[in-house]
Amino acid sequence: MPESCLFCRIVQGEIPAAIVLETDHCVAFRDIDPKAPTHVLVIPRAHVPSLEDARDPALLGELLATAADVARQEGLVERGYRTVINTGAHAGQTVFHIHAHVLGGRPLGWPPG
Ligand code: AMP
Ligand code: ZN
Repeated sequence: MPESCLFCRIVQGEIPAAIVLETDHCVAFRDIDPKAPTHVLVIPRAHVPSLEDARDPALLGELLATAADVARQEGLVERGYRTVINTGAHAGQTVFHIHAHVLGGRPLGWPPG
């Protein structure tokens, strides 16, 4: 685990986070700067910098399945929600530990800005 990685430190419990779901492979916690009424980040416990580095179908499957579980737990399924993985500069990725955003609670619009 890179000691400087913010999300690895959340997995380790070294930095507090509002955790909403934990599984053997993933942790989900509320985004500190929410862009929608519900905004949760889902990350693998393992350090993988981005989708570009994620070549493990099991890890990616766990990530998305956990995102769907979070959406259900947060009551987003009936009205719908968005799952986003930003990769690299043009997408605005700022934390280089892969994460899926789960956004909902209002109409989100399309396409994103
Ligand atoms: P991205 O721009 O896709 O890399 O998303 C990174 C997200 O992490 C942003 O939405 C930030 O608001 C969020 N974030 C940064 N630091 C924290 C933190 N300590 N706890 C929770 N979310 C965070
Ligand atoms: Zn990490």
